[in-house]
Amino acid sequence: MPARSRGSKLHGRQNVHVEVEPRTVFAGRILYRGRIIPAELGVSEEGRILKVAPSVRGGRRVDLGEALLLPSAIDLHVHFRDPSPPGSVEDFQSGTVQAALGGVGAVVDMPNTDPPTTSVERLEEKGDRFRAKAEVDGLLLAALRTETRVEELAAQGAGFKLYMAPTTGDLAAPPGTDLRPLLERVARTGAPVHVHAEDPRLFQEGLYAVDPEGWAAKRPARSEISAVRSLLPLAEGLRLHLAHATTVEAVELARGAGWSVEATPQHLLLAATAHQDARWKVNPPLRSVAERDALFGSFKTGRVTMLASDHAPHALSEKERPFPEAPSGMPGVETMLPLLLEKVRSGDLALPTLVAAAARRPALFLGLPRGHLAAGMEANFLVVDFRDKTRIRARDLHAPCGWTAFEGREGIFPRAHYLRGRQIVEDGEFVGDHTGLLLSRGDGAGASLPAAPTPRTAPRPSSSPNPSSAPSVPSPSA
Ligand SMILES: [Zn+2]
Repeated sequence: MPARSRGSKLHGRQNVHVEVEPRTVFAGRILYRGRIIPAELGVSEEGRILKVAPSVRGGRRVDLGEALLLPSAIDLHVHFRDPSPPGSVEDFQSGTVQAALGGVGAVVDMPNTDPPTTSVERLEEKGDRFRAKAEVDGLLLAALRTETRVEELAAQGAGFKLYMAPTTGDLAAPPGTDLRPLLERVARTGAPVHVHAEDPRLFQEGLYAVDPEGWAAKRPARSEISAVRSLLPLAEGLRLHLAHATTVEAVELARGAGWSVEATPQHLLLAATAHQDARWKVNPPLRSVAERDALFGSFKTGRVTMLASDHAPHALSEKERPFPEAPSGMPGVETMLPLLLEKVRSGDLALPTLVAAAARRPALFLGLPRGHLAAGMEANFLVVDFRDKTRIRARDLHAPCGWTAFEGREGIFPRAHYLRGRQIVEDGEFVGDHTGLLLSRGDGAGASLPAAPTPRTAPRPSSSPNPSSAPSVPSPSA
């Protein structure tokens, strides 16, 4: 790799400017201050963006024409079911292939596996499994329970998932548990807590739900609002993140207390009343058309800060059981971004809002040098053409479970996906070769770092790009 060093004489310091030639220059268009403009990305051998400018010299050129280069999405909520008993419908390999094809370059995997992620040993074992199979990057959460060894797990870089109500894996604290001592310990580590917010005391246990609308009545919207409210007095010093929000009231309560908030495509785009069977059974449930539309309104204005899939596949045979016995959850990591890109194409959503929710804010939340296209960031990006409107068909997707709740809807899938400058999707086909890394919060290179109370917002490149040539295009401000 040609790298020229020259001493910095200007300031008389010992630092050395290393001028690195881009290995590859990608020419296309990028989002810049809310506009789409032509630009070129110079990417180093190691997969960092060295420069973004109208013209970048050096290296191999990849001309992407009029196509749009967008940062890879980061999905803060997946269940890749690894480890799980034999016969499971997913593992880290199949899950990360779907992520790659759907434009997701990093995932946060949930701890309700079998066995669950409840100790440092389990976290390490899961990390080994991830490293052995992953095609995109990932971080692992640990389950937060009263017996959880919070300090040890946080020191390993893990964030936490708090289940306030029973769902797949049964990791919820018994109702009435005093969470204050546990949450005070987490607050001292600085690790974030992703909250599954449903208050089981408000579930209508006597209600026999036979369809998604009944499920929504059984686990009503006010149980979500109550769960958020119950955590507010305990939240001092905590970094809280509301998972899969379904109501604007819960969003506003959480935002008012400084939490971040994610919403899923299913809660943004689907309604309980439109569907009859257990493929649309999820926790928390799909809501009414009015609640869904209000949530999408909050997403459009950025009040919902992030997008996440809650990818939670089950075999179709499981979902075809009678509604009350069928498990909750649906696949979604491959369709999350395409569904929302279609909303951009149709004019229902601003592109900067989507990029902020899908890439930039999750990267800031995790403290990772990615999520926007600027010098110093990892070159994790998608090639998108808004003319590529596709009807979503389960048979064209890559989920081993073989079904999607979004059958027949339209999506825009990325043509190509690059992770650290290496191509993992080409013409909509997966071409990766075990590119994924196990990451920790505040980290870009796969090593564990001590927990930090706030994410680093502007990681620096290890070398300064040459400042003397064409002016750099700053990162989009979205
Ligand atoms: Zn989930």
